[in-house]
Amino acid sequence: MSVGVPGVLTEIDEDPFDLIEEIEQLKRDKDVSILAHYYVDGEIQDVADFVGDSLKLARDATTVTTSTILFSGVHFMAETAKMLNREKRVLLPDMLAGCSLAESCQPEALKKFQDELRAEGRDFETVAYINTSAAVKSLCDWIVTSGNAREIVERVPEGKEILFAPDQHLGRYLSEVTGREMILWPGSCMVHEVFSIQDLLTAKRKNDGCAVLAHPECPQNILELSDFIGGTEAMRRHVMALEEPQTFLIATEANMIHPLEKSAPQHKYIPVPGIMADSGETCACNRCPHMARNTLQAVRNCLRDETPEIEWQPFFEDAREVVAKSLLN
Ligand code: SF4
Repeated sequence: MSVGVPGVLTEIDEDPFDLIEEIEQLKRDKDVSILAHYYVDGEIQDVADFVGDSLKLARDATTVTTSTILFSGVHFMAETAKMLNREKRVLLPDMLAGCSLAESCQPEALKKFQDELRAEGRDFETVAYINTSAAVKSLCDWIVTSGNAREIVERVPEGKEILFAPDQHLGRYLSEVTGREMILWPGSCMVHEVFSIQDLLTAKRKNDGCAVLAHPECPQNILELSDFIGGTEAMRRHVMALEEPQTFLIATEANMIHPLEKSAPQHKYIPVPGIMADSGETCACNRCPHMARNTLQAVRNCLRDETPEIEWQPFFEDAREVVAKSLLN
């Protein structure tokens, strides 16, 4: 379909194969490595140098040898890559690629709440999910990902209370598996919160013998119906370890099916549908609108124009210390 000025190619006309070739060439010409999250489109994952979950990508970011990193993911991930690589240029294809979890916990609000708890004489440490801004990370004692959360929570001294932010569902789940009581920040992921319990039950009935894999960002009622609970990398390793072909219902962002199919093609994967917030109807897939800003065109434009770039901020130094002790040690 052609739109815009007649005779002038617009982004909508561009051939994905040409875009992929252009991206490969620009990467070489401009000395760039692409880091891509499992939730971006499969074709972007395929042109990336590193693909993974937040924990793997934070660690991968410290091993990059090129002068520039292009982070195909959302803003807090690119910030994390920058704080671990001050000397490198870090690009993000679209600065509007945010995260509902990160948005739900603003640094001023967290600081105020921490001050109130301290004024009450509460002795606590703040554990934050990696899905937070760098400014929030700089106010915390620990940073966790779904891949290392349990291990980090167990490092908080027994005598301390735990303030967990911003994902209430992950916090509740961690509290259950570690036996540690937590003060929970009331945030949630807009994608994982809307899985339809009704459709999950229907899909289970239709696919006799299937197993449900759910991300711990899902609400309790979804986790209770699941056979395996884990972050994206844990899901990938789980299916790779099973040789016998099976059917899996996947309760996380729908693009996760791409790395699962690549890593363990013997299985069948079905996305658990979500509920459309405006109409209440169910839809066939669950896509993060922030991750979806990472189109092939946006990646190509970002490489070509070398912008937008994550600029170093003064609070990155404190945030880096917390991230390094939590994720790199
Ligand atoms: S899927 Fe949820 S947690 Fe992940 S980036 Fe999107 S809004 Fe944030």
